[in-house]
Amino acid sequence: MECNSRAAGAKPTSMDSVLQPVTCSVIIPTRERPGPLRVTLDSLSQQTEQGFEVIVVVDGEDPQSRSLANSYKATFPLRWIFFPEHKGQATARNTGAGSAESEILIFLDDDTRPVPDWIHHHLKHHRANISRSALGVLGKVADLHANPPRSHTEQYLRESRNPVLAHFEGCLKNQSLEFGKVAAFGLNTSIPRKLFFDVGGFDPKLSSLDEDTDFGARLYDYGARFTFEPEALVHHHETKDPVAQHYAILRAAGKLDVYRRREKKQCNGRLQLLAQMHCGSPLRKLAHRTAWHAPWLFQLAGSLAHKATDASGSKRCFRLWYRATAAEYWQGLRAAGETVNSLRDLYPSRTPILMLHSVSAPTELHLKSLYISPERFTRFMEWLKSAGYASALPVDWDKRPANNRRVILTFDDAYDDFMTNAFPVLERLGFTATVFVVVDRIGKTNDWDEARGFKSRRLLSLDQIRELHRHGVHFGSHTLTHPWLTGAADHDLEREVRDSKLKLEDLLGAEVSSFAYPWGVADMRVRSAVARAGYKVAMTTQEGLNWSEDPLALKRTNVAEVDTLPEFVFKLATGRDLRQMTKAFLVRKGLYRAPEHAGQGGHRGGRDSDESTSEGPAGVVIPPAPGPGQ
Ligand SMILES: [Zn+2]
Repeated sequence: MECNSRAAGAKPTSMDSVLQPVTCSVIIPTRERPGPLRVTLDSLSQQTEQGFEVIVVVDGEDPQSRSLANSYKATFPLRWIFFPEHKGQATARNTGAGSAESEILIFLDDDTRPVPDWIHHHLKHHRANISRSALGVLGKVADLHANPPRSHTEQYLRESRNPVLAHFEGCLKNQSLEFGKVAAFGLNTSIPRKLFFDVGGFDPKLSSLDEDTDFGARLYDYGARFTFEPEALVHHHETKDPVAQHYAILRAAGKLDVYRRREKKQCNGRLQLLAQMHCGSPLRKLAHRTAWHAPWLFQLAGSLAHKATDASGSKRCFRLWYRATAAEYWQGLRAAGETVNSLRDLYPSRTPILMLHSVSAPTELHLKSLYISPERFTRFMEWLKSAGYASALPVDWDKRPANNRRVILTFDDAYDDFMTNAFPVLERLGFTATVFVVVDRIGKTNDWDEARGFKSRRLLSLDQIRELHRHGVHFGSHTLTHPWLTGAADHDLEREVRDSKLKLEDLLGAEVSSFAYPWGVADMRVRSAVARAGYKVAMTTQEGLNWSEDPLALKRTNVAEVDTLPEFVFKLATGRDLRQMTKAFLVRKGLYRAPEHAGQGGHRGGRDSDESTSEGPAGVVIPPAPGPGQ
């Protein structure tokens, strides 16, 4: 519809576009679909932007596509690459990228119609990206269904995609770290050619269902920045059978998760479901194990629910069917040769990371959830020792020790009482710790808290830091000045994150590999700066254990004066206290909305729910759906 809105007279001629410098290369993989491909190419002739080239990669030669290539008269520079045999969409896209002549690559599918300003809206972000930072632009994909739904199941399945897409777009708009769990980068995305190859392009071992999520995850891990551009709209003609597609996605997701964990050592939120076989709530574990051992039970229930949905239109039956199909995920894993026990190797150790601040008796009530008295601290540490715990460093958060009695001790802000009240206890018990330093405030005071009416406290001096370092204490960066990084301008953000690392490394003569976000707050832009600065791990203040986390958004467990010993022991096992668990449960069920910035110390993470796996209808946990346009 929009495609024809442009006046025919304003179309660029073939000659014009040849003379224009090439600005971007549009890459279209195709396979035996000359009809839809012609529509896609026609819509590209309507683009308001000029000077782009189009590369069509025919993934397995067929006479119809060859004939289209011979007869098609393009109004833009158009090149055809023919594979004699089918090699897969990933290889087709990579080959197109390899032969691209411009700086920016845009990926399009052969069954789409972009709006006339499509290229313009992609390129405006890359043109504005003067610093040439690693930037990926994601346009909007609107599904157009060729046929009305053939059944109630199909209709509800189509509808169930809307919240998934809304979540995907919402994460991008808010620059939320949740995007790491759903990242996908394929149809209707653009990226600098150099970045594409730096990150390694699409993985040819993956099918078209998975290559986008894998590439998106790798870009995210790399620290690329993502921008969502709704004006860069592409209409996508959906012709696949959604029910069959649903089963295929589930089965493929199981195998894919194993491949990504075992072969690629990837560790991110996508693997949450995998970990739930052992780490989820008791009810979920029971459901997963039944689905694993008795898939026929789920298949039978699913088939009955499917029939009942179509016959009655009942949404309740649909949700039942949806739940039952989740068993396909585990069947995918079984087909990949996994066992319930072998899955244990696939996710991190869940070593609790404890977060402490000042080790001094809190003088005011509101500090009791932030500070801890030396007596209580000593009692907790002695308990750890007597229970057989060893200490570890943040970079070893995912290692699996022989016995799982391990803890990571972190101290934020580097108060000088660490020297007098914490270190002697740690040294006596043989524990190591990591202290996060506000580098431009070494030897000064916590002025970031003073501005909020907190009492001024002394911070460790450089001599103290050096002495502690000689005695085996590790130091991480807590920025230069403890700012709100999410609100910082780009250059300030870079300076706070990168320069604090370099300065601290100079002061210590050792590598600084860990970072703690001030106030625990981070978004994608902040995380990206941390990734690019070269940190290996970064700490939020979100509470919980890390069993499927992004290494640059690790959860911690706050330990303070308010905790009793039984509460401390409970926290070690679960990562949070009972109150927090209840809250997380209520948030998940939609019965409680967490306030934006709660907590006296202001130290809290950007996220709140522990098991925020993608949930389908009725809270059924399903593998995160692939991104747009699948
Ligand atoms: Zn802090």
